[in-house]
Amino acid sequence: MTKMKTVLSGIRPTGQLHLGNYFGALKNFVQMQHEARCYFFIADYHALTTHPDPAQLHGNIRNVLAEYLAAGLDPEVATIYVQSDVPQTAELSLLLGMHAYVGELERTVSFKEKVRKHPDNVNVGLLSYPVLQAADILIHRADYVPIGKDQEQHLEITRKIARRFNNIYGVEFFPDSQAFENKRETIKVPGLDGSGKMGKSEGNGIFLADSDEVIRKKVMRAVTDSGPVAGEPMGEAVSNIFTVLKIVSTPEVYDDFLARYNDGTIRYGDLKKQLAEDIISVVSPIRARIEEIKADDAYLHKVVTEGAGRARASADATVSRVREIMGIKPF
Ligand code: ADP
Repeated sequence: MTKMKTVLSGIRPTGQLHLGNYFGALKNFVQMQHEARCYFFIADYHALTTHPDPAQLHGNIRNVLAEYLAAGLDPEVATIYVQSDVPQTAELSLLLGMHAYVGELERTVSFKEKVRKHPDNVNVGLLSYPVLQAADILIHRADYVPIGKDQEQHLEITRKIARRFNNIYGVEFFPDSQAFENKRETIKVPGLDGSGKMGKSEGNGIFLADSDEVIRKKVMRAVTDSGPVAGEPMGEAVSNIFTVLKIVSTPEVYDDFLARYNDGTIRYGDLKKQLAEDIISVVSPIRARIEEIKADDAYLHKVVTEGAGRARASADATVSRVREIMGIKPF
């Protein structure tokens, strides 16, 4: 029998989840939690590098936690915790920092970009961000980390630190953590504003917390064109609407509208109305669940407390061993 792999994924406590996050990432996580030993943590230590408003940080964590739970992460199956509830991560970060070099941290693209954008806030936390990230991953000795392109360099640093540690102390303790290769089809959700993907920074998100009315308004504003032209390919804006329709509707509805597009009888108003209702069918039960969870303090408390307990057990085992390997021993 092969050992079950450990997968770790960090969640930023900012913003709200949109359809892109849901179909592009979360639905895969929901599946994955049954196939591997999964840890999902809300990265609140990391968030501090950009000095969020203390009055808002806690609320953001609650929001993001409620949204992930509503979307299907199951605290009975996966370990879901808040990073700062496991301060062992901070200790491991300090210990690993002894084997991370300032030069290599200064050369990371994300650090250079932050320095360029915020020259007035080049704090130590920003420089050592990849070390803390290495600690997040290595504290559970994770085999896989689902990451986006922008995080590849950080994962490479994690591997460097882990190998260096193993070499220096002559141990085979830390794994060679790899990017999680998604075997499922990855869905890219486009925006409805003419081109490109749906995203927070693109300002075109349809959010899981949006009301039915807001969803209808957003969809009715979707960019289209002056109609199908025989012999010409479908333009990008309309093609994006069809892509989203395919994700949220039944194959029959999708095929019906595509046929109407192809024979020139389509009315974009009808297409948008249908799309709005089908998005609402996906979003409204999740939204109801988000509201229910957010109102349930006792449940949220239970989720984070139990998650922290399990994460701390795993973290304690790692940190005790690392201390021992590095020569810190009890009297
Ligand atoms: P955003 O782009 O809105 O800032 P994040 O970068 O926080 O979102 O993305 C979180 C996760 O959601 C990532 O794994 C990313 O691949 C996925 N994701 C974000 N937008 C989309 C999209 N439009 N289509 C598919 N997946 C997406």
